[in-house]
Amino acid sequence: MPGPTLASLTTLRLGGPITEPLRLSDLDDWQELVRTVGHREEHRPLTLGHGSNVIASDTGHSGTVAVMNTRGITAKKQEGGAVLVTVQAGHPLTDLVAWAASEKLAGTECLAGIPGTVGAAPVQNAGAYGRQIGDVLEHVTAWDWDAGLLRTLPARACLLRHRGSRFKSDPGRWTILTVAIRLTRTPAAPVSYQPLADELAVEPGSRPPVTEVTTAVLANRHRRGLLLDPHGPDARQVGSVFLNPPVTAAQADRWSAAGCPVHTDSDGQLRAGAGWLLELTGCHPGQRITESIRCSEARTLTLTAHDGATATGFTRALADLSGRVEAVTGIALRPEPLAIGTWPQAHAFIDTGTSRTRRAPPPDRCPRDWVATAIDPPLFTGACWSGRVLPRARRTPHRTGQVNDMLDHPTRPARAALYLRCYPTDAAGLDYQRAVLERLARQRGLPLPTAFLDDGVRSGDQRPALERLLERAGQGWVNVVLVPGPFVFSLDDRSARATVRRLEALDCTVLELTGRDALPLHALTA
Ligand SMILES: Cc1cc2nc3c(=O)[nH]c(=O)nc-3n(C[C@H](O)[C@H](O)[C@H](O)COP(=O)(O)OP(=O)(O)OC[C@H]3O[C@@H](n4cnc5c(N)ncnc54)[C@H](O)[C@@H]3O)c2cc1C
Repeated sequence: MPGPTLASLTTLRLGGPITEPLRLSDLDDWQELVRTVGHREEHRPLTLGHGSNVIASDTGHSGTVAVMNTRGITAKKQEGGAVLVTVQAGHPLTDLVAWAASEKLAGTECLAGIPGTVGAAPVQNAGAYGRQIGDVLEHVTAWDWDAGLLRTLPARACLLRHRGSRFKSDPGRWTILTVAIRLTRTPAAPVSYQPLADELAVEPGSRPPVTEVTTAVLANRHRRGLLLDPHGPDARQVGSVFLNPPVTAAQADRWSAAGCPVHTDSDGQLRAGAGWLLELTGCHPGQRITESIRCSEARTLTLTAHDGATATGFTRALADLSGRVEAVTGIALRPEPLAIGTWPQAHAFIDTGTSRTRRAPPPDRCPRDWVATAIDPPLFTGACWSGRVLPRARRTPHRTGQVNDMLDHPTRPARAALYLRCYPTDAAGLDYQRAVLERLARQRGLPLPTAFLDDGVRSGDQRPALERLLERAGQGWVNVVLVPGPFVFSLDDRSARATVRRLEALDCTVLELTGRDALPLHALTA
């Protein structure tokens, strides 16, 4: 009979062998675990709830796995009609929300339908529809494996943020045992999320009864494929695979004008819709990403695992999708689920030339035509990271204007960028040239080019945009560069040509405007 695996403890049903997991049903079990495991760092357990937000390694985990099965809710009335509710970590979040609705207690209604345990909710400040567990959290009690102590952490000490917390940033240090939340005997919190207001047929800011909001959230989640159906075609999933990425105000303007949903999160940070960005690169619901990994039938941002899937393949698919979005938009996507278990240091790498995956040889033994380079910054931090093998510069680089040959080559998807230099800034002139270059990209069947602008405006990155562009080209993220002419690189003709040659040596096609590409000025406002 096959032994226990992480796959059996996670909703993706991926993950290798483990020793028999410890299922903790009451706090006595916990004390027993602490006694047996001791305090030493290497013995701290991997704590799991329902495994609905993790990608578990194919090689499994060699240490103790503790599964939180503790259940129970106690409620204590407080002044002003509030109720302090203390919940055991293993209690299902959906049961807590249903209990609160039946007691007409407000505060958790927007969390209806989120799978998993109450103890895991503070780990990524679980939330939806404009509300998160942090809005009602009073404190947690947690075992601190560093200190070997049971500690009570008030909400502010949990360092909750958008889909993050100190527990998520410091995996393995804490095991949350109970979660205390403060609920109120009032109508639901003001509805701030437009699709939920639409579902309820109320104005944003209204406060409908708690049960109505709970029902509307569940109905809306059902329609959007956000409920976990363990027997449906999308059973093996972890919900959204990427966080909605933070964007600058300029990026927000640019991408919302193109139709991307942009919202402000609870920390005041602008975020773009990760699902929309994925769709921009050609993904859609039901799409096959690899033989065994697909977008869910209902939404692009959920990937599902199928027969033959592996955790390595899943993380590789994430790395590839993230790379595609970054190449097209300049916006990096980061995974939402956590990578858990023991990840081998030897990585499987993606051959960007053929899109096939290979096990990476040590860097000093790479075949001649390949160089190993890590994704920068690593897609996952801590437990797991991914890498790539990028093709070296071809011996016969493309000449300017040969772009169509390359784009017709099915194994080399085009990754376009445009480069403009204008100092001091002339916003109107830059916008005009950018529009002309974007139109040229459209005419050539290229994706929307990522803009690299040396315009004297301070950016988050201190380096000149040209330097960043060359770096991107060197990493293989850009293989077509659109420019008005080589003069943008330098007014000195020789040094401008030298930059063109440098890009070509990095396997990039430099595409220049011709007189025919000029755009009537009024087209800019069209
Ligand atoms: C269909 C679907 C929809 C989803 N929708 C949402 C959504 O709308 N919003 C949202 O925020 N999330 C969503 N998720 C993600 C997930 O459900 C939540 O993050 C949930 O809180 C995870 O709970 P879990 O018990 O499954 O945690 P697990 O996956 O078991 O663990 C997640 C992480 O928390 C750690 N952990 C678990 N329990 C403890 C504990 N007691 N103490 C310390 N660390 C612990 C684990 O080590 C791991 O690192 C969705 C997932 C699915 C499959």
